[in-house]
Amino acid sequence: MDPALGPPDAMAEKRDELTPMMRQYHDLCARYDDAIVLFQVGDFYETFCGAAERSARLLEIALTSREDSTGEYPMAGIPIDNAESYIEDLLEAGYRVAVADQVEEPGETSGVVERAVTRVITPGTLTEDELLASDDNNFVAAVARGRGIDTRPADDELALALLDVSTGDFLATSSAANEAVADEVSRFAPAEAVVGPNAPADVLPDDCMVTPFDEHVFDRERSASILSEYFGEPDALLASDAEIRACGALLAYAEYARGGEHEGEKGDGNGDEERDGESDDTSKAGRSHKIGETDRLEYLTHLTRYDPREYLLLDAVALRSLELFEPRAVNGRDDATLVGVLDETACALGGRTLRDWLRRPLLESHRIEARLDAVEELTGSVQTREHCHELLRDVYDLERLIGRISRERANARDLRSLRDTLAVVPEIRSQLADADCDRLRDLHEDLDPLADVRELIDDAVVTDPPIEITEGGIIAEGYDSDLDDLRGTARDGKQWIDDLEARERERTGIDSLKVGYNSVHGYYIEVTNPNLDAVPENYQRRQTLKNSERFVTPELKEREDEIVGAEERADEREYELFCAVRSDIGDEVERVQGLADALATLDALVSLATVAAQYDYCRPEILDPDADHIDGGVQIDITGGRHPVVERTQESFVPNGAQFDSEQRLAVITGPNMSGKSTYMRQVAQLVLLAQVGSFVPAESARLTPVERVFTRVGASDDIAGGRSTFMVEMDELATILRDADERSLVLLDEVGRGTSTADGLAIAQAITEHLHDAVGATTLFATHHHPLTELAEELPNAFTLHFEVEQTDGEVVFHHEIEPGAATGSYGVEVATAAGVPEAVVDRSRELVDANAAAETTAETEPTADGGTSELESTESDPVPDSVAAALRDLNVGHMTPVEALTELDRLQRLLEEES
Ligand code: ADP
Ligand code: MG
Repeated sequence: MDPALGPPDAMAEKRDELTPMMRQYHDLCARYDDAIVLFQVGDFYETFCGAAERSARLLEIALTSREDSTGEYPMAGIPIDNAESYIEDLLEAGYRVAVADQVEEPGETSGVVERAVTRVITPGTLTEDELLASDDNNFVAAVARGRGIDTRPADDELALALLDVSTGDFLATSSAANEAVADEVSRFAPAEAVVGPNAPADVLPDDCMVTPFDEHVFDRERSASILSEYFGEPDALLASDAEIRACGALLAYAEYARGGEHEGEKGDGNGDEERDGESDDTSKAGRSHKIGETDRLEYLTHLTRYDPREYLLLDAVALRSLELFEPRAVNGRDDATLVGVLDETACALGGRTLRDWLRRPLLESHRIEARLDAVEELTGSVQTREHCHELLRDVYDLERLIGRISRERANARDLRSLRDTLAVVPEIRSQLADADCDRLRDLHEDLDPLADVRELIDDAVVTDPPIEITEGGIIAEGYDSDLDDLRGTARDGKQWIDDLEARERERTGIDSLKVGYNSVHGYYIEVTNPNLDAVPENYQRRQTLKNSERFVTPELKEREDEIVGAEERADEREYELFCAVRSDIGDEVERVQGLADALATLDALVSLATVAAQYDYCRPEILDPDADHIDGGVQIDITGGRHPVVERTQESFVPNGAQFDSEQRLAVITGPNMSGKSTYMRQVAQLVLLAQVGSFVPAESARLTPVERVFTRVGASDDIAGGRSTFMVEMDELATILRDADERSLVLLDEVGRGTSTADGLAIAQAITEHLHDAVGATTLFATHHHPLTELAEELPNAFTLHFEVEQTDGEVVFHHEIEPGAATGSYGVEVATAAGVPEAVVDRSRELVDANAAAETTAETEPTADGGTSELESTESDPVPDSVAAALRDLNVGHMTPVEALTELDRLQRLLEEES
């Protein structure tokens, strides 16, 4: 157990003797024992004992101690004013944080100040702007096992629910296959997850924090009940029992993380006490959850159920190797990603929507075309596009704003920000008044400027309010007559005091008499020492200074009390009014979200159009896979295609076309290192993906059928990171392709079969090619250094060869990066080595070896045999392996060996073989 978590031993031993404050700390630690408790003491959040030692080291803050009659406790505190940056570090170190605030004013109570956990901050449930990336979602997930759609037998389905607590985005999906759920998880990359009973945690990636949560929140009844509180009848909304469990549990968790121990609801006689009492004994989060008004996260208004099969399927490997969100090269430029080249969005809303589109490219052509129509229209109209972009820059993050308003965490400035955004909406809307396509016309409809909300804020809240919401200065003049009266009283009183000086000077004849104010004594009349004789009877002495005396009069005191009283009541009234305005706006959450959605969509479309216009993209023609001549397969017809990311990172780029259809669907691509094979293959896949996002594509022309899945596998030579033996990874990934791909898939194989000996590698590559060709029927691009594969490709009826040629002049190698039909003549590896400056002698020796090997290759029989093996492999069978070597081989745990260990072991086995035979 981490000593930073749970009640400190030093306190637990003598809980009953602790001072009331330390007992409070102890009890909160016991209650929130999976989090570091930040305990408010005045202006600081303190931690004690193990948590203090840990925080001091992690946050580089001073470790002090607190001593009382019961002992001395290590203590470390962070200032509340910039707690967020420290909390971020705690989260990064893998902790959850429970923020225990003082919920009473210290003056209000005779005993110890009451404290309660107001927020539990976890990586997946952040709502603080400071802790979130503005242009990306932050998801928390729930994974649950349950019954599938009615026809399925019991509990055979796995569901995934995803929630962004900061924006209210809430999604659910499910599948009978764990892998399919794992693929969906990798699309959304949740930061945290809760996992239900019997659900496999291994569908979650390593960097996802798994939070223990009471299993009973995954109960069908309980889940259905909390869901219906939010969204009505769950069965109408979700597809299965498993989905209901996942969504219900996730809602319960979001409410728990919102904080608050719902004390007031305990024992309210609704028959739930027993369960609550029982769960109080558990040490898991969520024990205090009860469904009730105060818990509700009102801004969760939509739950979207989707089927993974509605979108182009990209698993974790494809997401990475197609560089959607993360650069592939370890020290590549940050923007060297697909999202980096596409993101010209003007506001956070659009940034997140664009990412969602990229994460989930579409399959249905009418949806793709709808986006393409809008992009085309915006591409054609420079003025509309640029004007929209300019206006959208003034759009605040409405989703998170309305979330804060709804959670009662918004201040008056937030309301003004909302108002400022609403103020630009009419102009944005007018840009779309003459739109032709349906998508833009719909947006024109949806861009509701919420005039009533804007008016309310304009009437109620001053233009430049302070951050604090309890100290007045927020509510505008004329909004509330009570407030105006109070302010009037205060103003009149002040005026009376302002006039007092002149009146008293006249009355007393003391010309130097002054009326002043200080925060300790309030208002006073100051008379210098020489004039003290002239002071009237009703002056009461208050303060003696060196050269003067200060007085008050009963009348002045009375006025002062009046002013202070009126000001205090005015502040209270302002706070009341502000909360009422905030809550009224909170009631409009769905309309604000609708507007946010429309603005986000417009921003994403404008971004796609901007890129299309600026970088000379063309509109792809989306083909119907069921058309006669396509026959349900994939057709790709690209001329002058460019790699969207690479073309931005270098000065010139050579465009290349690509032609695939059901007749010619498997290409074996050869060419020397660095000639452009990998770039070409990814380019084809990225263009397909972009088209399905609804984006224009970097090409002269493109005609495509939507593909359903993209698989990409990069050979071991390109990918050395990771603990497992790379060859195992490669084979594992290949197995997935061979199992899951079909004729609507696009498969990229880049140098697979490299992690093993040439003979094995070739054999495997060949067998894979045949299988993809004969059984799977997927559209495949296979870059390989195994030249015999090109011969195979010439023989298979639906396969063909492509290659990159290089030119050699005077030992120099010139890359043209131009794809051509046919197989490459050689690998040119040796020439590249020369060009790279490898010494002459080594190059000469390499040439000799190449020639010798080539001679050997022509004598060895490498034609495929019927069962897909090669005669080369079979020939080793005639030479029996000694038992000792065979046994050693069998026992090898290849999956757990490093390459060096593998080589060492191979060397040992080779010697053994020589000795034995
Ligand atoms: P291969 O996979 O054949 O070894 P790559 O695809 O990795 O080669 O390409 C090597 C480099 O060549 C790339 O990093 C890129 O800079 C350049 N390159 C590739 N294709 C092109 C192209 N079509 N036009 C211009 N440069 C290219
Ligand atoms: Mg390559």
